[in-house]
Amino acid sequence: MCNHDPLHCFVPPYILEHMTQSPHRRVSQCAIANLAGGSAFLASRLTAQATPGLLPVQPGPGGRHRLIYDAEGTPRLPGRLARSEGQPDSGDPAVDEAYDGSGLVHDFYDKLFARDSLDGQGMALVSTVHVGEVDLQGDTVPLNNAYWNGRQMAYGDGDGEVFRRFTGSLEVIGHELNHGLQSFTSNLTYQGQSGALNEHFADVFGILVRHWHEGTPAREASWVVGRELLVPAATRRGIRDMEQPGHAYRQDPDLGDDPQPAHMNELYTGARDRGGVHINSGIPNRAFVLVAKALGGNAWDEAGRIWYDTLLQLPADSQFIDCARLSIEIAGRQPYGPAARKAVAAAWREVGILT
Ligand SMILES: [Zn+2]
Repeated sequence: MCNHDPLHCFVPPYILEHMTQSPHRRVSQCAIANLAGGSAFLASRLTAQATPGLLPVQPGPGGRHRLIYDAEGTPRLPGRLARSEGQPDSGDPAVDEAYDGSGLVHDFYDKLFARDSLDGQGMALVSTVHVGEVDLQGDTVPLNNAYWNGRQMAYGDGDGEVFRRFTGSLEVIGHELNHGLQSFTSNLTYQGQSGALNEHFADVFGILVRHWHEGTPAREASWVVGRELLVPAATRRGIRDMEQPGHAYRQDPDLGDDPQPAHMNELYTGARDRGGVHINSGIPNRAFVLVAKALGGNAWDEAGRIWYDTLLQLPADSQFIDCARLSIEIAGRQPYGPAARKAVAAAWREVGILT
């Protein structure tokens, strides 16, 4: 399913492939459905009669426009409207987490970057929760994923054995909505190194929403992405570790081994995962953490701003070296300056992108 444009799925295909071999029947059933079953329903997703993002919505305080729908376990989007802007808690944790999380993402871009929603023009943030998937037998199973489909967010409830509901992790909401923001800005081509940069920026701004919301400075913060999605086990800590790529999960019976490299000398050059978009993002992810920790303070204040300016100016076909050069140049300008420029260059050198 996740190989179809313009879907951006949170759980990478290589994890789902491993999960098809899971000892838990429910896990393998959901993974097979997620990998194979979606194509028949893709058309209905992408040609939904309504374009909810364009529906007129009264903005609430702070200019937020949120619409949360409930797919009631089916793959059909957008589903039944469950909560719209300004309405009180629904009592359904998935609905309320999607509502609160998308509100925080809106406020993050508004307050820090004076950006009015993903398109800069106040577009409504549309989410559907309790999204299901149809397996090869025609049975409906929970979606073991979250995705941005070019217009809106969709969140599954997970299989309950490995994955829990996908609204439970704020950086996952921030990650997916950043894919939406990118479609209005750099639009980095979702293949190879430009695709890994697309994933990288989504991870950076996803985790920054969380750090900003929790008020955690860079040197004290966790850089693990997606911890709350997982049913806890000794063999897994999250889906990715931005500080220590390749160490989010180890010998996990369901997930396997985290394949992310931390340095260019381990760059993945195969064809899987669109040329490793979720794999090689580990390299720039580590560079960003090095910059944020070197500069100190809050990662969203300086490192985050340099990365935001870089994202807005990067051409769609950029490679790692292009991102490195542009971020170094931006870091050297006002209001950042020589110390920031030095820290950014050192980080890209440390991960082997700059030689
Ligand atoms: Zn992504």
